[in-house]
Amino acid sequence: MKQEMQEYERIINLSNEIQTQIARLENTDLIKQYLELLHQNQKLLQKKKELYKKIKTEEYSSCDHLWIETITDYNFLKTPFHYCSCVKCGLDQGVVYSINHGKPLSFEQTIMYNFLKKHHIDNPNQINSNIKCDFSLATALYKKIEENHPDIDNITMQKYIQTALDSIRQNENDTQEKENRIKRLTLNPNFNKWHSRDIVHW
Ligand SMILES: [Zn+2]
Repeated sequence: MKQEMQEYERIINLSNEIQTQIARLENTDLIKQYLELLHQNQKLLQKKKELYKKIKTEEYSSCDHLWIETITDYNFLKTPFHYCSCVKCGLDQGVVYSINHGKPLSFEQTIMYNFLKKHHIDNPNQINSNIKCDFSLATALYKKIEENHPDIDNITMQKYIQTALDSIRQNENDTQEKENRIKRLTLNPNFNKWHSRDIVHW
């Protein structure tokens, strides 16, 4: 016990000494400047987050959504859960699934969730395409088509995406074609989540 008491006192003395040194450093101009910059930066980051939230909320509000049914997860029977996600603005209703299943949301997903909670989505121009597809694949197809047809309307876009998916489905077993597609659409190289049964549309 005596040994522990000595060690305890040694630590207290050392800690006091360090605190004195910290206090001395905090009074130097360089450290004062450093702390002030940290403070300013924190304020800017907070402002940036608030503005980003406003920008995204405005984007979700003004988008004529084109909904794709994305696979959020599989149940124990390997049956997929589908949720609607917009290929145009990225709004993903799957965040509701995540919340209901206790999954943590990223900052981006939290903005989506708060938006969905507050707003009833009833824009008459939106389209539920009934296409079931991995979200990254659908978004990549959308971007590629939009690049070539910037003024395309939702109905035509839906047809183009369906045609592209039909072609993918027909060539599903062609590994070379699959790899080329990944490059063409600049998908993540690890991209392998989708199966032909997942991209069926009615
Ligand atoms: Zn949208």
